[in-house]
Amino acid sequence: MKQVKAEVISNKRILRELERRDAYTFKRPEARNVSGSWLIWLKCPDIAAAAKPGQFVMVNCGEDCYLPRPFSVHRVNKDGMALFFNVWQDGKGTQWLSQRNTGDNVDIFGPLGNGFSINPEAHNLLLVAGGTGIAPLCFLAEESIKKGHSVKLLRGASGESKPTGKENPSQHYPEELLPRGIEVHTITSSLDGRKGMVIDLLPNFVDWADQIFACGPTAMYRTMAKMPELKNRPVQVSLEVVMGCGAGVCYGCTIRTKKGLKQVCKDGPVFEMGEMEWDNWGERGKAI
Ligand SMILES: Cc1cc2nc3c(=O)[nH]c(=O)nc-3n(C[C@H](O)[C@H](O)[C@H](O)COP(=O)(O)OP(=O)(O)OC[C@H]3O[C@@H](n4cnc5c(N)ncnc54)[C@H](O)[C@@H]3O)c2cc1C
Repeated sequence: MKQVKAEVISNKRILRELERRDAYTFKRPEARNVSGSWLIWLKCPDIAAAAKPGQFVMVNCGEDCYLPRPFSVHRVNKDGMALFFNVWQDGKGTQWLSQRNTGDNVDIFGPLGNGFSINPEAHNLLLVAGGTGIAPLCFLAEESIKKGHSVKLLRGASGESKPTGKENPSQHYPEELLPRGIEVHTITSSLDGRKGMVIDLLPNFVDWADQIFACGPTAMYRTMAKMPELKNRPVQVSLEVVMGCGAGVCYGCTIRTKKGLKQVCKDGPVFEMGEMEWDNWGERGKAI
């Protein structure tokens, strides 16, 4: 693990806002409005060289944020690493990060966590991304293609309308930035369920896949865990829970699993889907 002051190479908004009809309501307390999604490239060749797909870094987000914020390693190159992140309208840390300019320095430490693990005999890899869940899966796709795997990506994003009834701009990660050499299937959901969710695509691809990797909201995992098609299938999921230190010290991210208590920052964030007790989970994180 390395702690560095990383220079911002570039930082730009690549998706526009998502304003939700039911944001901050009792009906869907996990729903927050998003100012947009940003792609930031940071100069940190040592972290980039050490990072594995599925690992994350902690970012110190300015003096007003006491705790660092966790973000998945989204992409790497010889100079550094990219993060792809949602900026919450009421999120202190993500607002701060979105306002960094080229040449600014950002304190980060990592890489942290276990990352995804590909079985040696697996060839066909199915990646399932719910919304911003695409963040760690782009890195996994790029590395897997380099190693000769066949990769299919199923991705879903919200198509719900604004409180005014007008449409939100597309929430799909830009096509031209997706890794080359993968097969992509896209679906858009809406609040009233008129269109499809990413898991609706899954049954058509399960038989093709040797291994499945997913990143998305808890509700997506809960549904996946009940799908008969996925019973006894090797599925790894990346968990997003509120985290304190990111380094195994504070125990703030402890979860209860079928194999006992685990720290998401150290034992995860990637777990076997069958290891989790999904019925004990709340929408915005774990309940132990
Ligand atoms: C392992 C891991 C990887 C992640 N990777 C990404 C990513 O690649 N892209 C991305 O957009 N988001 C990612 N997240 C979520 C991201 O960390 C939060 O959106 C971010 O911390 C919110 O910070 P804030 O100050 O803007 O929000 P605030 O709500 O003001 O944050 C308050 C506190 O709650 C924590 N928090 C709030 N929401 C979350 C959340 N959903 N998950 C974890 N902690 C939260 C913050 O870290 C902070 O300590 C990841 C979370 C984890 C645990």
